[in-house]
Amino acid sequence: MLKRKDLLGLIDASKDEITEILDLAEEFKNRIKRGEKKMSYLDGKTVTVLFYENSTRTRTSFEQAAKYLGATTINIVAGNSSVAKGETLVDTGKTLDAQRNDFIVIRHPMGGAPYLLAKTVKAGVLNAGDGMNEHPTQALLDMLTMRETFGSLKGLKVAILGDIKHSRVAKSNLFGLKTMGAEVVMYAPETLIPKGIDQLGAKLCKSKKEALDGADVVMGLRIQLERQQAGAFPSLGEYAANYGVDEAALAYAKPKAIVLHPGPVNRGVELTSGVIDHERSHIEDQVLSGVAVRMAALKLLNDAR
Ligand code: ASP
Repeated sequence: MLKRKDLLGLIDASKDEITEILDLAEEFKNRIKRGEKKMSYLDGKTVTVLFYENSTRTRTSFEQAAKYLGATTINIVAGNSSVAKGETLVDTGKTLDAQRNDFIVIRHPMGGAPYLLAKTVKAGVLNAGDGMNEHPTQALLDMLTMRETFGSLKGLKVAILGDIKHSRVAKSNLFGLKTMGAEVVMYAPETLIPKGIDQLGAKLCKSKKEALDGADVVMGLRIQLERQQAGAFPSLGEYAANYGVDEAALAYAKPKAIVLHPGPVNRGVELTSGVIDHERSHIEDQVLSGVAVRMAALKLLNDAR
């Protein structure tokens, strides 16, 4: 049984915790597919979605997840709130606590912000992406999509290509996938590989072929221009040619390999349009997995309260 107040990262999530979330998410995903979108597990609860950074998928899917579970949702966009008047995160948290919010879903450009919030509020806190640190529900939804396809995560070769340095998705996937017994390999320009990631269990590859050879999962990550001070590579065109995945590169992977991308995708940069729209691409299915995983996380955290 999940016994946490908050879901902040996968760095300390156990195999049993991840399995419990994925099992329930799988059930919720099937229920949504059958058109069952009105449940009462979070009746009378309030979920506030507090975003200090842009988002389409994560914000809407957290909101949908809370609504499908019967909760009331409140959406705070930092630019339209007292945050724009200089209110600190801790004071915003205190206000939300005073209003008896049960859960706060936070996205913040600063790594560690959700941890600070979680320490100061009674509400359960869910990290929806903090800077370059973690994005646990994204990795969980990726793992759900992989598990549904292959039956198990154990022994899978997952190749992650793209802007790993600035990616919270890469880190959460690395932590979660290693815990579940998968192999994680990475390939990117050296300027986009964070120092020490190999010590955390990632295998760094010297070529695209080495990374993709025999892979079960090919995951592209967006080039995060908003988090780069200086160009990490000469041009997007050169990046695409040397590090992007096209159909020829996909052929190195296993015949049944699937393609994932957390979105938003830079079409033609990390993946070509042919790969994004390929029959082996599960990018659209990831979105529904996202709603289901966020429902599972909210329900299990609520059960633990
Ligand atoms: N949507 C993901 C995130 O928020 C990936 C990305 O933005 O590239 O981290």
